[in-house]
Amino acid sequence: MSQFWSPLVRTLTPYVPGEQPKIAGLIKLNTNENPYPPSPAVMAAMHAVSADALRLYPDPDSSALKQTLAGYHGVQPNEIFVGNGSDEVLAFAFMALLKHSAPLLFPDITYSFYPVYANLFGIDYEEVPLNDAMEIDIADYAKRECGGIIFPNPNAPTGIPLPLQKIEELLIAQPNAVIVVDEAYVDFGGETALPLIRKYPNLLVVRTFSKSRSLAGLRVGFAMGNAALIEGMERVKNSFNSYPMDRLAVAGAVASYGDDAYFREKVQAIVDSREQMTQELQQLGFTVLPSRTNFIFARHPTIPAEQLAAGLRERAIIVRHFKHPRIDQYLRISIGNPEECKLLVQTLALLTR
Ligand code: PMP
Repeated sequence: MSQFWSPLVRTLTPYVPGEQPKIAGLIKLNTNENPYPPSPAVMAAMHAVSADALRLYPDPDSSALKQTLAGYHGVQPNEIFVGNGSDEVLAFAFMALLKHSAPLLFPDITYSFYPVYANLFGIDYEEVPLNDAMEIDIADYAKRECGGIIFPNPNAPTGIPLPLQKIEELLIAQPNAVIVVDEAYVDFGGETALPLIRKYPNLLVVRTFSKSRSLAGLRVGFAMGNAALIEGMERVKNSFNSYPMDRLAVAGAVASYGDDAYFREKVQAIVDSREQMTQELQQLGFTVLPSRTNFIFARHPTIPAEQLAAGLRERAIIVRHFKHPRIDQYLRISIGNPEECKLLVQTLALLTR
């Protein structure tokens, strides 16, 4: 605390990102990174960026990236907003679209950045409990007066997806509120709401390159929605940081979309490992929620999750454990490569014997 802090800063409880320890040989299954490297085409494209290009400011509109994304996803460039990771894209959505007099709604078990942003941007919010099956129940959001709704689909850290039809029901029930669907994990088997953006001008779909495209270190995310929603976000961006995307990130991100075969192969490998790990943990007695992401959320019937997380850590494997009372019996385990998955399961077998 410093006397120089503003009153706002004094009230903030910042987000604590998952640990990023620099320990050699550590098996890192705690922040849902992709265990595979990005496509070699990404590295080549970044190497090809010239010194002279780096001397110059980047394109403030990131047109090359927007064109690539537009072509791939079947939308127009003016229906796309790009930023430094989806966390930054979400920040622009909060500032531009989610600050209203009625409270913002989001699940009580969800991505923990949402309440942090709401507090930072002075947005009143209400947390809506998940149902007994740990699912988002659309009926709980449909009839409430609100200034916007945000949730991940699939949800995090549960991994449970919502069917597209449920999202459409919500869009119909709440035509005057912006609904942000955070699709950070959708490529691992969720159903995207993207086909609905033309029909519902209040829908914003947010994506990231951090998970399915192995580029968490590059910081690239984007949103797709009605051109008027995007224009609102661009206004905030141009009033705040008019050059969010650097030239290396644009080159790498464009190249990632140029190697679709690689992308599909790695996503499939992760999905296969997830299904195998789910079965193996069930055989050890764990309850595993039905994940459509690159992580699983699992709990043991008797041994406390905190104890298991500590036991794994002693053996150089890190997973995520949350202190929230409703989920403190669970471990969130990112899907690693087959060897890492095998070691994780072997170690949990040992710890639960
Ligand atoms: N949304 C959700 C649901 C996430 O889990 C994450 C990753 N922690 C993000 C957004 C942010 O990802 P990034 O900023 O790396 O794109």
